Amino acid sequence: MSLCDSGDLLPVEEAIERLLAQAPPPPPTEVIALTEALGRVTAEEVFSPIDLPGWSNSAMDGYALRAFDVPEQGGHLQVVGRIAAGHSSDVPLQPGQTVRIFTGAPLPPGADSVVPQERCRVYGQRIWCPPVRLGEHVRRRGEELQRGQRVMSAGKRLRAQEIGLLAAAGIPRVKVFRPLRVCLLSSGDELREPGESLAPGQIYNSNRYLVAALLRGWGVTVHDYGVMADALATSRDALLLASSECDLLLTTGGVSVGEEDHLKQAIQALGKIECWRLAIQPGKPLAFGQVAGKPWIGLPGNPTAALVTTLIVVRPFLLRAQGAERVLPVPISVPAAFEWVKPNKRRQYLRARLSPGSDGQLRAVLHPQQSSAMLVAACWADGLVIIEREQQVSKGAAVSFLPFTGFE
Ligand code: AMP
Ligand code: MG
Repeated sequence: MSLCDSGDLLPVEEAIERLLAQAPPPPPTEVIALTEALGRVTAEEVFSPIDLPGWSNSAMDGYALRAFDVPEQGGHLQVVGRIAAGHSSDVPLQPGQTVRIFTGAPLPPGADSVVPQERCRVYGQRIWCPPVRLGEHVRRRGEELQRGQRVMSAGKRLRAQEIGLLAAAGIPRVKVFRPLRVCLLSSGDELREPGESLAPGQIYNSNRYLVAALLRGWGVTVHDYGVMADALATSRDALLLASSECDLLLTTGGVSVGEEDHLKQAIQALGKIECWRLAIQPGKPLAFGQVAGKPWIGLPGNPTAALVTTLIVVRPFLLRAQGAERVLPVPISVPAAFEWVKPNKRRQYLRARLSPGSDGQLRAVLHPQQSSAMLVAACWADGLVIIEREQQVSKGAAVSFLPFTGFE
């Protein structure tokens, strides 16, 4: 019996937990400009050096006033000035006065509220305005953040909105972990690269491009080693070189039942290998171990199996190894537009689309072709429907759905 043929099925959560428990410490840190920070992970907490907003300001184009000056039925005020964004006035407002003000402009001293211009009537230098609620349409100083308050936790993957908030707080640089370097190797003598010609029995290497694209999307630096020949010595040499150049190794193919054993033997010679039979479909065979002290994950060869296991099992591990705290995708619950009557020992991740039913509510529709060897369904799909082990689903029942966008 070869190395990865036996053993109980391992629940997906347990595989993820085991991997997270063995995730290597994050890479060294570096300080980079905000413009370079998209997708990077903060290595320390960040505190605001300022109040945000820095001063109370108007949320509307309108008139700044003292709410107390306007009678309950509304009343007239004298317009005594004009403040645009980027300007300010230190002239205190006197009783019965108002100032024309624009969105983002600081309130003059004494003003406490803003009335939107469309609610006022203008008579030359006087306006009539309706009753005012104290503080309305004013963004108060420090309302969003106070000086010294935490803007960002450590272990946060920076999206556009985090980068925007750091900029709003006036922070030009941020301390992050340097990107994880992952070596990617494909196994299989049948593989050729797109652009090459195919001899009988050969196929194009799709996993190399698929997995590299996923990794790049997660901010990982990919060292692409192409295809390892299915021979012990060449596999060993390639793996050894890769382990010296990367933080972590990923291979595709060569770990399933009945596979020739070169890859497994090479890993054994250089470190250690644990083969798992995951309770997941697609993607049962998955191997984990070490090559010359570096973590290694062996992904299944079938392309959709490689896609699903990379998204579900490898992604949390990689993100944690990059220093990220939140690493699990969040499923949503949607009604099924299908019926699932064949319970399975493995949890299914089915390629599905969200489409409105006759009531307008979104429902999960399955692609008719769910083969783990084919990527067409994944391209059609918006995400993955999860069918739990031994679960049956009747039409209209709620199922968990993981949108592909949740794996960004
Ligand atoms: P294996 O896990 O090596 O037994 O491969 C399982 C199936 O996936 C076989 O049909 C392989 O030809 C196919 N396969 C393996 N690696 C790749 C790859 N990089 N690109 C496309 N198909 C692959
Ligand atoms: Mg193979």
